[in-house]
Amino acid sequence: MAKLYYYYSSMNAGKSTTLLQSSFNYRERGMHTLIWTAAIDDRFGEGQVASRIGIHEPASRFHKEDNIFQLTKSSHEHREISCVLIDEAQFLTKAQVWQLTHITDTLKIPVLCYGIRTDFQGQLFEGSQWLLAWADELVELKTICHCARKATMVVRVNAKGETIRQGTQVEIGGNDRYVPLCRTHFKEAMLTKSCTGETKLAQESPQQHQSHNQPESQQNLLKH
Ligand SMILES: [Zn+2]
Repeated sequence: MAKLYYYYSSMNAGKSTTLLQSSFNYRERGMHTLIWTAAIDDRFGEGQVASRIGIHEPASRFHKEDNIFQLTKSSHEHREISCVLIDEAQFLTKAQVWQLTHITDTLKIPVLCYGIRTDFQGQLFEGSQWLLAWADELVELKTICHCARKATMVVRVNAKGETIRQGTQVEIGGNDRYVPLCRTHFKEAMLTKSCTGETKLAQESPQQHQSHNQPESQQNLLKH
């Protein structure tokens, strides 16, 4: 049975290397693979998956409006595909993750997705959210924090190494801009004083807590 796999990591866990190795394993047996990457990521030029250890392969690029099932089906009719591999899978839309389930269920082709679980604020990416929900197999690609514990989170840092706490979710960058951390050190990084002297704790002011004393707010709390 063909399956949908999600290989997820915080980052810097050798995702692209693993993807390219998997593709090579098929191709050395004379089989063909189809590699996709997000159109948003043009670090390595148009349409290729590149590993930090220097290997690379051409890839088709998916945009948010693309129907990956139909595009894969057309390609498969032209030349038999034995495996579909998707890099930067966190940038898939919910609809596209559903399309991937059709590739496994209808075309009977295994789909291997590689992506980052959460963004620099600890929020799930859309593609990751639905892959975690719908994939047949979830495989964690582990990386470590500076304290040697497993890194499950990532923070964005500026050139001075200071943590950036706000901004857009999608910001492609190299190793200098994102740092994998364990959850303890992620919390520490997010609570460190910013240049304005404010902290996240300080934002939870007594006034906000007072509003919880109102009956309506209490009801909302009880629902949880
Ligand atoms: Zn740590």
